[in-house]
Amino acid sequence: MQITDIEVIPLSYRLPEGCGLGDARGFGYDRETTLIRLDTDAGHIGWGEAFVPGRLARATIESFFADEIVGFDPHDVESLADRFTTDPYHFGRGIAVQSALSAVDIACWDLIGKDLDHPVYRLLGGVEREELRPYASTMYFTEQDRSLAEPIERAVSEGFTAAKIKIGGGTESDVKRVRVAREVLGDDALLMVDMNGNYRPAQAARTANAIAEYDIAWIEEPVPPENESGYQEVKRRVDVPIAAGEAHYGRFAFKRLIDDYGVDIVQPNLARCGGLTEARRIGTIATTENVRICPHVWNSAVGLAAAVQFAASTSEYPHTRNRPEPRLLEFDRSENPLRSELLEDPLDPTGGVLKVPQKPGLGIDVDEVAVERYRDD
Ligand SMILES: [Mg+2]
Repeated sequence: MQITDIEVIPLSYRLPEGCGLGDARGFGYDRETTLIRLDTDAGHIGWGEAFVPGRLARATIESFFADEIVGFDPHDVESLADRFTTDPYHFGRGIAVQSALSAVDIACWDLIGKDLDHPVYRLLGGVEREELRPYASTMYFTEQDRSLAEPIERAVSEGFTAAKIKIGGGTESDVKRVRVAREVLGDDALLMVDMNGNYRPAQAARTANAIAEYDIAWIEEPVPPENESGYQEVKRRVDVPIAAGEAHYGRFAFKRLIDDYGVDIVQPNLARCGGLTEARRIGTIATTENVRICPHVWNSAVGLAAAVQFAASTSEYPHTRNRPEPRLLEFDRSENPLRSELLEDPLDPTGGVLKVPQKPGLGIDVDEVAVERYRDD
């Protein structure tokens, strides 16, 4: 099987005025990402995602990758990173190169699965889980004065038994948000908090201690992603698991997160970290050190599907079948048609269980009419 064509498809969706999505760092209006479509001489079509705006993905792919992709056999996917990082050597392994690589890698795995008639998770090592426990990413900061409880109440009514909320706007606000979330979720649900790197270590520790009574499963990005000494200080001062990884790219960065930052949970985004191949390597590094791996997912439906396949294949621990923690998968609950409208059969997290698609490849059928609706060349 050889790739005969590559198409780069920028997608965007702008939220209505007054409905910006907020975290501790501020508000955003634009959901932007990039799909790629690979055609092959076998008739199969492969889909991948680079979780960066189209103008960045297109420039990177056309500059470094496009010429060599035509004629490439997707079954040689393990050699992709070595093959295609030869030219952009001096551009390093930052977000542009790793995201472009992710898109091609995911599309290759989709093609391999379709060629061999297997879902990707089985090709990645086999059945670890056929069901995942989705957690709702919700309770964003809002521009308008809205009910704090409403998004969590909605998640509970949809059947979620785990949720992650945005905090990081000051300890008093943090405590209020966490208290409301815990009251609505009840005692048995998992509750995670995301500071989006908005604090210094002492601020993060102050909030962590103030919310400790609400049984927090993890604190995400307490300090900025590049602040290695800050992570180390938070780890010394806080007795709650620390998660990070959505702003780290490639296995070398994740090795540092584990060895030097000391995080307890790593969160590679499949459409930024280097794709399924690199995520598997990151998973091996993580589980070797008994660190959990929980993909970050804020992608389109294609990147989400890749995360599902990856999560289904990866073991939590190297040593036991008696698992004290569920295999979690992040499921954003904010308005985003790029997640909810691009598939013929959208992935459904309601009811507290996400069934892993069993069809070949990523297990999805992309609705190309919907793709055109949000295309933004
Ligand atoms: Mg986050």
